[in-house]
Amino acid sequence: MKPSNLPRIAILGAGPIGLEAALYARSLEYPVTVYDAGQAAEQVGRWGHVKMFTPFGQNVTSLGLECLMRDNPRRELPGAADAVTARDWREAYLVPLAESFVLKDCLQLQTTVLTIGRTGWRKTDPPKPGAPLPPFRLLVRTAQGQERFDSADIILDCTGSYSRPNWAGDAGIPAAGEIAARPHLSYWIDDIAGTKKAHYAGKSIVLIGGGYSAATTISALATLAEEHQSTWVFWLTHAERGAAPLPRVTNDPWKDRDRLAARANNLALRCDGNLEYHAAMKVEELVCHGPDKGFRVAGTVAGKPMSWEVDRVIANVGYRADLTICQELRVTEPTGDTATGEPGYHILGMKSFGRTSSFTLREGHEQIRKVFAALGGKKGLDLYARKAA
Ligand SMILES: Cc1cc2nc3c(=O)[nH]c(=O)nc-3n(C[C@H](O)[C@H](O)[C@H](O)COP(=O)(O)OP(=O)(O)OC[C@H]3O[C@@H](n4cnc5c(N)ncnc54)[C@H](O)[C@@H]3O)c2cc1C
Repeated sequence: MKPSNLPRIAILGAGPIGLEAALYARSLEYPVTVYDAGQAAEQVGRWGHVKMFTPFGQNVTSLGLECLMRDNPRRELPGAADAVTARDWREAYLVPLAESFVLKDCLQLQTTVLTIGRTGWRKTDPPKPGAPLPPFRLLVRTAQGQERFDSADIILDCTGSYSRPNWAGDAGIPAAGEIAARPHLSYWIDDIAGTKKAHYAGKSIVLIGGGYSAATTISALATLAEEHQSTWVFWLTHAERGAAPLPRVTNDPWKDRDRLAARANNLALRCDGNLEYHAAMKVEELVCHGPDKGFRVAGTVAGKPMSWEVDRVIANVGYRADLTICQELRVTEPTGDTATGEPGYHILGMKSFGRTSSFTLREGHEQIRKVFAALGGKKGLDLYARKAA
């Protein structure tokens, strides 16, 4: 296919996967537009203080490194084996990539994709065998509040899931009171040792959740409680009684992730350092008494009713894909695959894993390779291998 005949690609999200997908598309001369509701790698900035479990070399691609070195041959980057925080990675690699000569013209930052359909077509229209589907029609809103329609032939939805936390209540639905309380509690990995220290030091805190995000939070809270003895933490998880909250991955290739799980499990089972741990918890009620007036958390622990009155609540209960932007298309809820049921609409990155939190950047880079190999009809196409050689 000649470059001028190549399909127009719209990439939703200028996060780590959207940026890499854009670079891959540009390298193959596809016409591409990248939209981001905020700044480049905005979500990564929100957990910038977190030490990544993968070393720098696993978080970048050969195409990305080549692009940065082409722009500035004297650029200094962390070494491949270096442990980095998300902030180090964002500043050294992701932001310069977004500002690179190759990408800067195709980025539309502070431009939110509100919803997508197909021109002159409805989801309920009967299929016309053999007839091509019309192009995608995107309703986008700029930072100034102006709305307009754009058009594309292929959508790569890389909008992530970090901005869409799950509910803390039993059965995955909100606990009673949680909808109203939502703006007052934190669903994120707050910077407890840094910018949020004063918010948590000396307070009583309920932490809900038993994954790696909760492990990061409990580890930071335990350190805080050592410094500020009046801090008291109640850690609530679904895990079975007597079992460690975090399952350890046998021979985990990411040793920092395994160390984090080990530390969190240790804290739960030892229960010292101003920490109470409750397994087999079902949260039924999560009521906020008003801004900075505390919370009531209630439910059952191993079937027995329990409740707490605390100053702060952190719910690290995972994230889910937001499908409202594509609800006028036949996109199914993602479970690890980039295909969606809608021809030409691919979900990549963290969002493609739906409610599963095990996504890694390496897997995202492989998704990009496969999607472009399929688009070009060349199964073996691998720009990463070519550039690395
Ligand atoms: C705390 C934490 C630690 C992690 N550590 C690692 C690690 O060490 N190693 C590893 O491999 N992986 C790690 N991950 C997993 C994963 O690599 C990251 O979540 C990564 O940021 C996912 O990239 P993404 O591009 O899919 O999504 P995101 O980084 O979430 O980017 C999505 C982008 O889409 C934009 N957006 C959203 N909606 C719209 C819209 N409607 N219109 C326009 N733009 C929109 C957002 O502003 C954002 O910039 C970690 C994840 C978390 C949460």
